[in-house]
Amino acid sequence: MKKLKYVLLSVLFILPFFCFAGCQASEQNLNNYEIVITYDNQTQTAQAGMVVDYVNNSSNVLNFVMFHLYPNAFSESNDGMVCSTANEVKTYPNGKSFGGVEVLSVKVDGEEKDVQIVDEEQMLLQVDLNEELFPDERVKIQIDFALTLPNANHRFGYGDGAVNFGNFYPIACVYDDEKGFSTDSYSSNGDPFFSDCANYNVTVSYPDDYTIACSGDKVVTKNNGDLTSTTIVSNNIRDFAFVLSNQFSVLSKTTNGVEVKYFYYNDQNAEKSLNTACKAIEKFSDMFGGYPYNSFTIVETNFVHGGMEYPRLIMISDFLKSEDYDYVIVHETAHQWWYGLVGNDEFNEAWLDESLTEYSTVLFFEACPEYNLSYSQIVSGANNTYQFFLQIYKKINGSVETSMLRSLDEFDTEPEYVNNIYARGVLMFDALRSQVGEKKFLSALSTYFEKFKNKIATTADFISVFEDKCGRQMEGFFNSWLEGEVVFIEK
Ligand SMILES: [Zn+2]
Repeated sequence: MKKLKYVLLSVLFILPFFCFAGCQASEQNLNNYEIVITYDNQTQTAQAGMVVDYVNNSSNVLNFVMFHLYPNAFSESNDGMVCSTANEVKTYPNGKSFGGVEVLSVKVDGEEKDVQIVDEEQMLLQVDLNEELFPDERVKIQIDFALTLPNANHRFGYGDGAVNFGNFYPIACVYDDEKGFSTDSYSSNGDPFFSDCANYNVTVSYPDDYTIACSGDKVVTKNNGDLTSTTIVSNNIRDFAFVLSNQFSVLSKTTNGVEVKYFYYNDQNAEKSLNTACKAIEKFSDMFGGYPYNSFTIVETNFVHGGMEYPRLIMISDFLKSEDYDYVIVHETAHQWWYGLVGNDEFNEAWLDESLTEYSTVLFFEACPEYNLSYSQIVSGANNTYQFFLQIYKKINGSVETSMLRSLDEFDTEPEYVNNIYARGVLMFDALRSQVGEKKFLSALSTYFEKFKNKIATTADFISVFEDKCGRQMEGFFNSWLEGEVVFIEK
C-alpha cells in the first residue's frame, strides 16, 4: 500500500512453450479456489458460493482448516478498525458505513457442517474436517457467503467512482508446521494480509453497464438479460481482487509479453500513467526477474490511501494529485515482486515487502531520469521526513520508538508506522547498498526473488541471501536497523 501523506513528503502468463506442462506440475500442490459471485448495485450486496480444493502442504495431520473473514473488519462491531481517526472522513465521506461477510453454510466433501466463527471480532472461520487430512491429501470445502459492502473508500466498499472487492472472500490461513495456522487479525496500519499462492477460477455477475477490472485473464463473458457474467482464470497468485465501475475508460499496451491494462475515470494523463506502469514492469523485470503473468491491471478507484496492491491488479486512488500518479503506480507495481510473487507475513514483518517496495521505487526513478526525481533527492527527502518525525515524537512523548520489526498492532500510531517502514526503510536500504556495493546488492535481490518466487520468505531468509552473496555475517547490520538501534544525528 502507499500512504499518500508520505508520497507528498518523499517527492520533495506468457511463459516458455514448455511451461504449460511444467506449471501444471508445480501447481498441483496449490489450493484451487472456485468462486461464483453476483453483485447487486441496488442493495450494495453480493451473494457468493465458493469451493476450495484444499491441499495439506504441511508435514502434520490436519483436523481443521482456518479461514480469514477480512470483510468483517468493516462490521459495526469492529467500528473504526479499518482506518485511523485521521482518515475517517476521507474513508467515509457520507458518514460511517458498515459492511461485512455472513457465512451462510459450510460443507466438507459434501457433508454439511456448523458455521464456526471462533473469535470475538468475527474474522476467523474454523472448518472441522470429516476425517484427518494427511500431508499432500486434498479436501473440498464449500462455503456459501453473503457480502454487504460499506459506503467506504477502502479495499472493500463502494464509492462514487467504483466498487472495490479486495479481500472479499474467505481465504485459507497460512499453515506453519510449528506454529499452526496464522490467525493474526486486522490493523488499520499497513496491509494486514498473509496468504499462499493458489489457483483461481472466478465468475462474477454484475449489471451490464459495468466493466470489471480483475486479477487475471477474462476467459468467458456472457450476457444474461441485465447481467453480464465474466469468468476469470488466474493461476499461482497469492490473492484475487476485482473492481467494478460504470465509468471506466480502458487503455492497454503490451510490453515484455505482458498486456498492461489501465481502467480509469479521472486521470487527465491516462496515457502517461499507462506508460509509467509499462516502464515499471520492464525495469523491475530487468532488476529482479521476469514478470511471470501475461497481463497486469492498473485500476483507478476510490481509495483512502495512495494505492493498494493485489496480485496482477493495483488500485490507484482517484484522490491523487496528477503529479503523484507516477510515484504511486511505480510503488504498487514494485509490490508485484515484493508481496505478490515473493510472499511474506505482512502482519508481523511488514518491512520485508513494504520497505523493499519503497526502495525499489527509488531504484526505478534512479534508472529513469526523465521523471526528474533523482536518487539523492528522494533519499534526502526520506531522511528529512524521518528526522522531523523523530524530533516531533521526542518532543511529544519524550522518546520515540524506531523499531521496524514489529507486528502492525505494535505501531501505536499511523505516523509511527509510515515513518519507520517507508522513510527509515529507504534509509536502511540506502545504507545496505553502500555497504555491500551496487553489484552485490542488485544480485542479492534477484537471487532472493528467484529463490522465494511464489513462496513465503522471512526476515531470516532475506538476511541469509545477503550473507551468502557477501560471504560474511550481516545480522549485526540488519538487526541494528530493524530493531531500531541505528542512531540518527539530531538537528
Ligand atoms: Zn506499499
